[in-house]
Amino acid sequence: MTTNCIIPIKKGNYQDRIFTTGMTGYPDVVHIPDRPEGGAKDFSKVIELAKKCEPPTEIETGKIVGGFARNQVLALADKVVDAVKSGAIKRFVVMAGCDGRQKARSYFTEVAQNLPKDTVILTAGCAKYRYNKLDLGDIGGIPRVLDAGQCNDCYSLAVIALKLKEVFGLDDINDLPLSFDIAWYEQKAVAVLLALLFLGVKGIRLGPTLPAFLSPTVLNVLVEKFDIKPISTVAEDIEAMMAGK
Ligand code: SF4
Repeated sequence: MTTNCIIPIKKGNYQDRIFTTGMTGYPDVVHIPDRPEGGAKDFSKVIELAKKCEPPTEIETGKIVGGFARNQVLALADKVVDAVKSGAIKRFVVMAGCDGRQKARSYFTEVAQNLPKDTVILTAGCAKYRYNKLDLGDIGGIPRVLDAGQCNDCYSLAVIALKLKEVFGLDDINDLPLSFDIAWYEQKAVAVLLALLFLGVKGIRLGPTLPAFLSPTVLNVLVEKFDIKPISTVAEDIEAMMAGK
C-alpha cells in the first residue's frame, strides 16, 4: 500500500501478505522504509514472499473498456459535441471518487442502471467498480461509461469539463449539461472535492456516507456557497439531475 486507502485488515486473513510504504502504515504490517539518499527502496521482503505464494487464480473473465483520460476524450471532442448538440447525449454525470464493497453502497450501481440511456457517465477512481461491469451500451459509438482511470485521473474529468465549457462558449461550468454525483469513502476524495469547489462547481451530490469533517458549521458554508447536498434516493436524484438540479 502506497497511499492512504488501506482499510482495516482482518487478522489471519492477508495480514502477512500486505506491506506498506511511504506515508502509509498499519499495526503489525511490515513497512518498507524510505529509500536511502541516492539509493532505491528495498523491496526484497516483498519479492521473497511473492516467490513463495501460490499464483493467482482467475476468478472472472471479460472485457472492460477504459482509457478515457482527457487526451482520448478531447480527441473525440467533435463527436462528443455533435452528440450533445443533436440531443443524442442529454447529460453527463460524473460518478467518480472512492467507494467500497458494502451492500449499503449499492446506490451508484443503481444510479448507473437507471440513468436514461441518453446520459454518459464520466468516472475515475474506485467508484467505477460499482458499475463498470454492467453492459450500459454506447451512444453512437461513445461508451456510456467513460473511464478516465484511477482516482488521480479525476484531473482529466475536470479538464474535460473545462474544455466542454470552452467549446460551448459558456462562462460558467454550472451551465453545462453536467451533474456531479460523487462517491465518498475516504480522504483522497477530499482533494478531489476541494478541486471541484475551487472550479466553482455547484450542486454536487455526495454519498453514500458524508465526510467526518462536515461539522454542522462547515456543512452550512458548503450548502450556502456551493449548494452541496447528500444523496437522496436513486429515483429522486436521477429525476433532479435530469432536470439540471
Ligand atoms: S479512489 Fe479512493 S479508495 Fe480508490 S485508490 Fe483512489 S484514494 Fe484509494
